[in-house]
Amino acid sequence: MSLEEKASLCSGKNFWYLEGSVKHDLPSVMVTDGPHGLRKQDSSADHVGLHQSVPATCFPTACALASSWDTELLHDIGVALGEQCVAENVAVLLGPGLNIKRHPLCGRNFEYFSEDPLLGGKLAAAMINGVQSLGVGTSLKHYAVNNQEDGRMFVNAIVDERTLREIYLRGFEIAVKASQPWTVMCAYNRLNGTYCSEHDWLLNKVLRDEWGFEGLVVTDWGATNDRVMGVSAGLDLEMPSSGGVNDNRVLHAVKTGELNEETLDQAIVRNVSLSLMGAEVQSRSVDLDQSAHHALARRAAAESTVLLKNEGGLLPLSPASNIAVIGAFAKEPRYQGAGSSQVTPTQLDCAFDAILEVVGEHAPSYAAGYETRHSALDESLIDEASGIAAQADVVIVFAGLPAIYESEGFDRPHMQLPEQHNQLIEKVCDANANTIVVLSNGAPVLMPWVSKPAAIVEGYLAGQAGGHGVVDVLFGKTNPSGKLAETFPLNQGDVPADQWFPGSGRQVQYREGLYVGYRYFDSADQPVLFPFGHGLSYTEFEYRNLVVSPAAPHAGEPVEISFDVQNTGEVAGAEVTQLYIRDVESSVYRPAHELKDFKKVWLEPGEVRRVTLVLNDDAFSVYDPVAATWVVEAGEFEIRIGASSRDIRLSTEVTVASDQAISASLQNTWGPEPTPGGCEVPDAVFASMLRGPIPEPESSKPYHLNSSIEEIAETWLGRRIKAKVLAGLEKVIGANGADETTQKLVQEMVKNMPLRSLGLFGDSGISPKALNVLVALMNGHYLQAIRLSMSLNSSAKW
Ligand code: BGC
Repeated sequence: MSLEEKASLCSGKNFWYLEGSVKHDLPSVMVTDGPHGLRKQDSSADHVGLHQSVPATCFPTACALASSWDTELLHDIGVALGEQCVAENVAVLLGPGLNIKRHPLCGRNFEYFSEDPLLGGKLAAAMINGVQSLGVGTSLKHYAVNNQEDGRMFVNAIVDERTLREIYLRGFEIAVKASQPWTVMCAYNRLNGTYCSEHDWLLNKVLRDEWGFEGLVVTDWGATNDRVMGVSAGLDLEMPSSGGVNDNRVLHAVKTGELNEETLDQAIVRNVSLSLMGAEVQSRSVDLDQSAHHALARRAAAESTVLLKNEGGLLPLSPASNIAVIGAFAKEPRYQGAGSSQVTPTQLDCAFDAILEVVGEHAPSYAAGYETRHSALDESLIDEASGIAAQADVVIVFAGLPAIYESEGFDRPHMQLPEQHNQLIEKVCDANANTIVVLSNGAPVLMPWVSKPAAIVEGYLAGQAGGHGVVDVLFGKTNPSGKLAETFPLNQGDVPADQWFPGSGRQVQYREGLYVGYRYFDSADQPVLFPFGHGLSYTEFEYRNLVVSPAAPHAGEPVEISFDVQNTGEVAGAEVTQLYIRDVESSVYRPAHELKDFKKVWLEPGEVRRVTLVLNDDAFSVYDPVAATWVVEAGEFEIRIGASSRDIRLSTEVTVASDQAISASLQNTWGPEPTPGGCEVPDAVFASMLRGPIPEPESSKPYHLNSSIEEIAETWLGRRIKAKVLAGLEKVIGANGADETTQKLVQEMVKNMPLRSLGLFGDSGISPKALNVLVALMNGHYLQAIRLSMSLNSSAKW
């Protein structure tokens, strides 16, 4: 290939297709979103769910699926997604999303699995292996430290290396090693000062050299900052196309010696390999059984449902009960989130119809209780609902977050349900004590009414068959076995990251370090609403006979942990057994305990099963950033077997022998202080965690190509640019009849968009050179603006 041909392969052909080459017989293959269904667009393309996509099964979103703790289920769903890709000639599915749920307010948490990297990493690996078993690729995303939507395209995440290795990179490490995704998608944001799209340490050193990743790294859509640096850093493919601008830069860089041709060749080899592997999908065919996929989506929804509370065994319900159904979500389900993952479902179940199927002639009474779009305060709807509730034996209230409350593109401002939902639940519970609340939401909410209903069911965003799935649980067709993959805090202020989320001055500091989710709550002994790993069943499980072998292992030696679990109740059910490890004494700070393995077991009434888990070094080690290695410290470790992080049923200690030691300079240094009510991390402690000074917040001035549209709107010219971009998007929104949430998402995304993206997404036709003229003008550098504009007509586009 000529240099020009090679450079042309560094970016896509258009929004969804890779560049091909007729001359070299290289096909142009399609990649598309993910993660919980296929969002394949026929003609018009966008990455925020503006335009229509072909119908495809909408499986439960990741927040729901994670609650199943069931790797086999995730594998099955992966297979179904792979089949859909084959049927639609899609070479790579853009998912799964594996970012850590650092704060419940992240608008995109519904697309992510967990606050725990081991759980997330294992579930992601299972899904990837499922999809890839069909000869279709995946894109594990967003690598890395993309834990908020606010400023997502430029925010600088400041994280110490130990926290990175043990929390934010750990899930990716587990998934990459266990499943070799064909591609990894870099995140938009910066990590410790460098854009992830040009982060040599992240992409070349950690991902490839240390973890052995063999695939291709692709940008998130529009994540390129400096394409030449990106190629050097191991970023193989820019998506979507930059209209040749960045390819020309790459070409120029090789010609001038700024970029080594061998480095470019490595990217080209990976691009060509991906296209060749992807092209094989065209020679395959599947008999797509949409109804089997819908049935799988239903099973997944039921298995992912979490029974949070069930006083007096109100659930499961008898079909003969006199039931009142309250809440418009029963008829207009909230089942997925907005943005790039939004799927056009092949069919859509609603819980109300599913209840009718079960109860036959005992048809329930119904009141809407709220309108689904905004759920504005309306007492008359509450009065009507309480009146109906008072007449029934049992009431099911469907409540949750309206779509406009959570989405890709913006974070939630608070953790409350709409006030109308809170009041509705309170009043209905006052009218009838036998009330069950069923929630539809993508992330934890506060429950000021938690003591009132007899039962609470967390349904999450359960996909197109969620209606049937949750009703299967309510009436006992499925015995609930879901467990929370994230902590539900009592108050937003209890969340360890709360004081530092989403940051300011174009940066976000991860001061809480390792204290994410239960790692903080359990260390601080902070009361929670529902703990990590919690979920009830219609049966009971007993744990006994814990044996650890060997009881005094050497570092590096596998440790076998086995115990019995018995179903002591009357009905069959599944239990998610969880293994946590507590380091009894450590020379560096460590959370009270950490999840190291888990296993879901299905048991008939009375049945006993022996569960065996094998731990290796990873389970005991900590990352030593000075020695740049994982270290197992000798000493006592407590092995804890639990039904949640706060319900430990069995425990024993092992003594690990090791000649490894944490670097002397790290021993007995301070970490964050996990006190109840938050983490205390003074500047000096954070600086010592970073092993260097805390970066200064950035000023918005002088403006530059990475200034956000919101920042430049401080100037007259910036306001004109913002207005023009919004007007362009309004047209698209109008033409597609986009819903309110998508409109809000687009507006928020524009605010957070850096100026450099305008050429790509703004449909403005502004060349990078012209953007530089605008920047000079906004900074008041008029002579520079004139000089730059005089060269605008030259042939080089950049
Ligand atoms: C999202 C990705 C998605 C891509 C393509 C981006 O805005 O962050 O998750 O895969 O668009 O739609």
